[in-house]
Amino acid sequence: MAVPVWATAVEVDVAIVGAGPAGSTLAALLAQRGVRVALLDREAFPRDKLCGEFLSYDALPVLAPLGIVDAIDAAGAPHITRGRIVGSRRTYEFALPCAARGVSRLFFDDLLLRTATSHGAIRLDGTAATTIDATRVNDIRARAVAGAWGRWGRFDQQLGRAFVRDRAHRHFGFKRHYRGDHPRDTIDLYAFPRGYLGVNAVEREITNICGLVHADRLAGHRGRWDAFVETISREEPHVGALYARQQPAQEGFLSSDPVIFRARDAVEAGVFMIGDASGVIDPLAGNGMAMAVQSALLAAPFLLRLVESPAHRERIEREYRRAHRAFFAKRIAWSRRAAFFLSRPRLLDAALATLRGTGVAELFLRRTRASHEDVSALAERWFC
Ligand SMILES: Cc1cc2nc3c(=O)[nH]c(=O)nc-3n(C[C@H](O)[C@H](O)[C@H](O)COP(=O)(O)OP(=O)(O)OC[C@H]3O[C@@H](n4cnc5c(N)ncnc54)[C@H](O)[C@@H]3O)c2cc1C
Repeated sequence: MAVPVWATAVEVDVAIVGAGPAGSTLAALLAQRGVRVALLDREAFPRDKLCGEFLSYDALPVLAPLGIVDAIDAAGAPHITRGRIVGSRRTYEFALPCAARGVSRLFFDDLLLRTATSHGAIRLDGTAATTIDATRVNDIRARAVAGAWGRWGRFDQQLGRAFVRDRAHRHFGFKRHYRGDHPRDTIDLYAFPRGYLGVNAVEREITNICGLVHADRLAGHRGRWDAFVETISREEPHVGALYARQQPAQEGFLSSDPVIFRARDAVEAGVFMIGDASGVIDPLAGNGMAMAVQSALLAAPFLLRLVESPAHRERIEREYRRAHRAFFAKRIAWSRRAAFFLSRPRLLDAALATLRGTGVAELFLRRTRASHEDVSALAERWFC
């Protein structure tokens, strides 16, 4: 493919670090408007990624106008319409208000990156960002820089972000793909002490089992996830029964960098943060990718203003911080409350015994997601 003339220059309007759902969505949105965008990722795509791979329905109004929803449906991503919370002795079932999707990160992230490129973003995957400030990434000069490097990266230390020092609340994730009999329209959440598992189908008849566990529980397992799965299977027979029904479809487990849920600033040293770099919702909410793409849509108009009026930087930063807090802070807090119960199977059982018929799952879904009106209004303002 011919390289645009300006792609050889080291100057762009917006440089974005990280081509996960946040970075690639932002690149696509801005490039679609004619903004010159460079999108860096340290990994070469397609690449796999640890995730539950449950794409919440409130991401769809952002992704549909980019053609992403049609593309994942064409790839056979299952429509997920039901949920089950599985405690030691009780199961709680609920309906989702709209169909979510199960989609592998290998496919989804690559699709988003290709979409951004098709709109004209310069694709620099396989290129790690090593130096950054408000107007520069490596040797690329930009009028604005967006940080989309996920929940944990080298710049978090370099920028002195407070959450990096938190050692008491560290969690780790683990995932593996399986072939088994999991219903394609259902997401299950299984409790085990100080952690939980999410189970749902993705495209190609695959079932993904992805867990999150407090770091304290991993002492003695020396990073051996198969040994840890044996431990929780012994502790919780329902977890053992789940794994017994599956055959691995992927060599080994993928695991994550530390997951820390402390609050983060949406602008650090002039860098506009989006996705997990701007705030991490507990994975049990299944809303991290939705927040990532929504934060890209939220940030896009601010970055556009900054490109056009660099002299107004201070005001634009202040307004973005405020808009980010209003859109995301409450759902992050709600997700942590629910995670407290889900990682304590006995307490969860007691709660499930009293909660049946109270609509508590529906309340949780509402509180941990953007309302259809809010996200559609955001999308309409940008796309119309
Ligand atoms: C156990 C677990 C289960 C989860 N399950 C779900 C789920 O089912 N549904 C859901 O919606 N969310 C889930 N999440 C959350 C979801 O994975 C994240 O919210 C989402 O990936 C955030 O997207 P992002 O684009 O902000 O960051 P990421 O997807 O983390 O992407 C960041 C990118 O930045 C790149 N990068 C990092 N540093 C550099 C650098 N220096 N230079 C260049 N590139 C760099 C990385 O290579 C990466 O590609 C889960 C999380 C965990 C831990």
